[in-house]
Amino acid sequence: MTIDSEDLLSRFLAYVQFDTQSDHHSETTPSTAGQWELIWKLEQELKSLGLTDVHVTEFGYVLATVPATSKKENVPCVAFLAHVDTADSCSGLAKPIVHRKYDGQPIVLPDAPSQILCVDTIPHLHDKIGEDIITASGTTLLGADDKSGIAIIMAAVRHLTLHPEIPHGKLRICFNPDEEIGRGTEKLSLKELGATVAYTLDAENLGEVDYESFSADRAFVDIYGVAAHPGWAKGTMVNAMRIAAQFIDALPANISPERSAGRQGFIHPVEISGTAEHVRVEMLLRDFEVDGLEAKGKHLEDVVARLRAMEPRARIELEIKKQYRNMRYWLEKDMRPVEYAMEAVRRVGLVPTTEAIRGGTDGSRLTERGLPTPNIFTGFHNVHSEKEWVSLQDMCKGAETVIHLAKLWEERA
Ligand SMILES: [Zn+2]
Repeated sequence: MTIDSEDLLSRFLAYVQFDTQSDHHSETTPSTAGQWELIWKLEQELKSLGLTDVHVTEFGYVLATVPATSKKENVPCVAFLAHVDTADSCSGLAKPIVHRKYDGQPIVLPDAPSQILCVDTIPHLHDKIGEDIITASGTTLLGADDKSGIAIIMAAVRHLTLHPEIPHGKLRICFNPDEEIGRGTEKLSLKELGATVAYTLDAENLGEVDYESFSADRAFVDIYGVAAHPGWAKGTMVNAMRIAAQFIDALPANISPERSAGRQGFIHPVEISGTAEHVRVEMLLRDFEVDGLEAKGKHLEDVVARLRAMEPRARIELEIKKQYRNMRYWLEKDMRPVEYAMEAVRRVGLVPTTEAIRGGTDGSRLTERGLPTPNIFTGFHNVHSEKEWVSLQDMCKGAETVIHLAKLWEERA
C-alpha cells in the first residue's frame, strides 16, 4: 500500500494555515468563526474526492460517507473522526516549515530563535532522523493536533476511492469543532453519524491505540463576602478574596498537574475572578477511576466546610459538574474495537502501544453515549506548544492504519 505522501503533505500544510483556535468563553458552536473557514474547505475537499452524503450541520460538523465496496451485508459502519480546532495555549495560525530528510541537528525556529527542537531533549525526534519533519516557525502552534488527524483521514479516504478493489463496509467521516474546549461532540447526533464503532485520530505516538481517558469533573466555588465602606469596615467587612486565598492554599499541593503523572489524578484551579464581595474559583478534577474522582470532590467539600466554620458570615457554595468518564468502563465490555485497531497497527508493521490518556478525547464522551470510540495515533508531538511537530512518514502510517482498520471490520464480519 502506497499512500500519496505529497498529497497528504500539501493538504496538511493548507489546514495548519487556518486559524481555528477555539474559545471556551464563547457560547456558540463552533466557538469561533475561524473554524468555519476550515470546515467549508473540508466540505469542498470531501466533495471533490467523490464522497457521498457530504453535509455540514448547523453546528459545523462535517459529515460524509465512503460507500461500501464489500458484498457482505453485515459489515458494521465504522466512523473516523478528527477535530478542526486548536488549543488556546498560543496562536494557531501557523507558518509551517518542512524539514526534508531531517539530519538530526537542532532545529531553530526562525521567528523565535530561543525555541529549539533538539534530539537530546525530545527523545522521539531522534527516531525520525531521515524523515520529513514539519514544525511551526516559533511563535505559534503547528496545529498538528489535530490537523494531522484530518490529513490522515483525507489521505486514507482518497486512497480508498482510488482503489475500489479494497473491500470495506460503509465508512463515515466526521470533522468536528471545539474538542479542545471539551465540547467536540456535544452537538453531534449519533443517529446522523450512523456508525456502529468509531475512532478518533487524536493520539500521539506511532502505533498508539488508546482506550483509557481520565474521568473528569469541573468544580466551582463561589465565595460571597460582606460589603462595607472600607473606612468604616472594622468588624463588618468580610473580604471574599482573602477567603479565596485560604481556599486555594488549602488545596493539596501534591495532587496537582504540575506534580503528578502516570495514573495519578489531580485538583487543578484553572480560573479565578472576582472582587472583595464575590470570588469565583473554577477547578478541574481528574482521576482515572470514578471513586478517586469522588474522593477529590469530597476533599473540596471538606475544605469548604472548614472555611464556613471559620467565617460563618461569608456564604460559600460548591458546585461539581460532571464532564466525562474513563472510556475503558465501556470498552472493556467488548474489546473488539481496540483489538482490531491494534491488529491494524501490526499490519502496518508497527508495534501497538497504549497509554492512559491524561485528558479526555471526543471518544470519551461518544463511548459513554454508546458509540465505542478508541483513539488512534497521528504522530504529532509536543502539542499545545510552539515546539509542536510531526513527521510526514508517521502521518502516512496513520493513513495506512485507517485503511487496514476498514478492511479488518469487513474481514471479520
Ligand atoms: Zn487533539
